[in-house]
Amino acid sequence: ERNFILAGNWKMNKTNTEASAFVNKLVGQIGNENKFEIILGVPYTALDRVADITRSSKIKVAAENMYFEDSGAFTGEISAKMLKDINTEYVILGHSERRNIFKETDEEINKKVKKALSNELKVILCVGELLEEREDGLTLNVVERQIKKGLKGVTKEDMSNVVIAYEPVWAIGTGKVATPKQAQDTHESIRRLISEIYDQDVANSTSILYGGSVKPENIFGLFSKPDIDGGLVGGASLKEDFIELANIMR
Ligand code: 13P
Repeated sequence: ERNFILAGNWKMNKTNTEASAFVNKLVGQIGNENKFEIILGVPYTALDRVADITRSSKIKVAAENMYFEDSGAFTGEISAKMLKDINTEYVILGHSERRNIFKETDEEINKKVKKALSNELKVILCVGELLEEREDGLTLNVVERQIKKGLKGVTKEDMSNVVIAYEPVWAIGTGKVATPKQAQDTHESIRRLISEIYDQDVANSTSILYGGSVKPENIFGLFSKPDIDGGLVGGASLKEDFIELANIMR
């Protein structure tokens, strides 16, 4: 009843030229009959071209960020309408790198979430705790705060266009993947929280992805858990591994 999703997040990697070469290869090697929804988060500069190359394939494109205002004097920012105009289907919001390096707050992320949804962009809302927060037993507090604040004012109807990605910060880019049990425990709590904020139907139909050092070697254990509906993949989405992941998860 909910979508299974394999999403990549290239972060600040690949020029437009490199992106075209890689995605042309992906399109040829990822079967259209794959049951998973396949999404690729790419830098702004590559969005238009990648959306073009993937148009008649299974692969959908995501932006990695956007700004919450419609237009105006916001030098360097990109609006929801600009993304929509170049056939971007998704936007990744609240990634831990946005939160920690660029100091985005839950309030700003919430404004972005609402702006994206009102422009008919689907949202991948990222949440996750720092290592010290996990060690202090605060994982669920942190994730609950990020979800409650991130989804403030988002209606039940809008939730059909929201995907949650649980990405423990200590697992991102470290090679230290969460165990399937650690991830499942948090995913189960997230689904319960969504049922409390909305209702059980919304909770059951919301896809919750795991992110943090996902690789072909560890994806199977993670995806065998009932509340893990897919992955948000960083490093491994830049290479052949992504094709392998797509072909494992089908
Ligand atoms: P890695 O897969 O490189 O750990 O990155 C995960 C991530 O941040 C995806 O958004």
